Amino acid sequence: QSQEQSEAQVDYHAALQALVENGTRMVCTGRMHTDRICRFESLCYSTEAEEFVYFHSNSSVMLPNLGSRRFQPALLDLSSVEDHNTQYFNFVELPAAALKFMPKPVFVPDVALIANRFNPDNLMHVFHDDLLPIYYTMQQFSDLDLEARLFFMEGWSEGVHFDLYKLLSNKQPLLREELKTLGRLLCFTKSYVGLSKITTWYQYGFVQPQGPKANILVSGNEIRQFTKFMMQKLNISLEESSSEEYIVVFSRTINRLILNEAELILALAQEFQMKTISVSLEEHSFSDIVRLISNASMLVSMHGAQLVMSLFLPRGATVVELFPYAINPEHYTPYKTLATLPGMDLHYIAWQNTAREDTVTYPDRPWDQGGIAHLDKAEQERIIKSTEVPRHLCCRNPEWLFRAYQDTKVNIPSLIHVIRQTVKSKPGPRKQKWSGSLYPGKVRDAKCQASVQGTSEAKLSVSWQIPWNLRYLKVREVKYEVWIQEQGENTYMPYILSHQNHTFSENIKPFTIYLVWIRCIFNKNLLGPFADVLLCST
Ligand code: UDP
Repeated sequence: QSQEQSEAQVDYHAALQALVENGTRMVCTGRMHTDRICRFESLCYSTEAEEFVYFHSNSSVMLPNLGSRRFQPALLDLSSVEDHNTQYFNFVELPAAALKFMPKPVFVPDVALIANRFNPDNLMHVFHDDLLPIYYTMQQFSDLDLEARLFFMEGWSEGVHFDLYKLLSNKQPLLREELKTLGRLLCFTKSYVGLSKITTWYQYGFVQPQGPKANILVSGNEIRQFTKFMMQKLNISLEESSSEEYIVVFSRTINRLILNEAELILALAQEFQMKTISVSLEEHSFSDIVRLISNASMLVSMHGAQLVMSLFLPRGATVVELFPYAINPEHYTPYKTLATLPGMDLHYIAWQNTAREDTVTYPDRPWDQGGIAHLDKAEQERIIKSTEVPRHLCCRNPEWLFRAYQDTKVNIPSLIHVIRQTVKSKPGPRKQKWSGSLYPGKVRDAKCQASVQGTSEAKLSVSWQIPWNLRYLKVREVKYEVWIQEQGENTYMPYILSHQNHTFSENIKPFTIYLVWIRCIFNKNLLGPFADVLLCST
């Protein structure tokens, strides 16, 4: 044992000496604080000051070296929510020599991913802001493997969905509060700080009303690679030969209720001749819900965070989202955006209650459950009379909360009618073949030849070879698009052609230079890149 102890001591002294001599080293990706992730060696954290500490020495590195721009507004976003001023990361700087006067550092040997969870009590936020971004940040950096440890710095307690966070690595995630018990000065041997935003599809309305992100970069394929991982960790096998088809009604039991749920379940079962089951977060385990949803033909639910579980639906399934009175489905689309991501292959249907007599409001509840009793009388009356919540910013708009927390008696014929407009026969996961869309490469060896007839007529013959990848693919329809542009002009003549050569004679003038742009198109809408422009003189 004394042998072990002395080795540990040697290691400790070596680590401390390395910290004093090398200081902190930081190299980041990203040009802006909103797209930055940093890798650190020897980043420290003072649990007393609740600040990260960067130690300067002769060997320390800080890239980007921003000077005071590091505070304008911050080095990076610690959560995946873009530029939120409660989620910024920074550190304070000290010379490594100051370590002599500081508490003895405690070294964290695991590779660490340091980040903030945004709202760990809300399932939509858990998946969209935390789990998917953490999973793909770990995929981005190879030393963030299953032996890495997650550090959540937002300061919340575990929250009701902590078991889901635990699936992402073999080590127990640590919360900010727990760091105090480890020591006064913690030094992370190797750490990554910040989360990838590449998988997020929704912005919650902090600066403009909520809606899909402007530039969505994720497809159903990446979502399903993630859900496959989660299901393996939950020990849920995908039943390939699912015997029975069924519909899942995902209910809420505390608020935003479906008041005639039994009637709804019966009607769905009758209409689609399918077993219809109801689940809720209060009455079912998370694994049971995933197991059921991952084989369902249709998921029906009130608007709300539980609908993020459509992530687990099989391809071909249908999502039916129910909206309470006065809530325009087009203004609240986190789940529609998810269901309609390219490659999710889900059908999405929104139904809205348009009958005032079918809604039950709760004006006397606390404001955060949609109560409006705290507002002045005129404002209360305006809200009660209004037939649609105007667009608004997050997160405390009383009219939105009032309408969002209504209960609804679903008008069954109107709902069935809306579903039937999309689901003609039986809903459900047709076992689809992978219909991944592959794009053509550039056309090759493009050439042109001109001929002039007299002083006013000319012809341009253009030919090219198929894109290189086409010979390895089965493509239903291959077409070519050719643009002919007179040099110096802003306009061009477009043509869609089926063959690999064509002679153009309309509008071709003699003694003129033309630019010829050619690209290949698969199956009408898969547009390839243009080949290098051809310069053709008649
Ligand atoms: N929730 C639930 N049953 C309820 C009400 C809420 O399971 O009756 C869950 C909901 O899915 C979410 C969390 O509790 O994960 C917070 O719900 P809230 O109404 O605040 O958010 P929203 O669903 O509108 O996003």
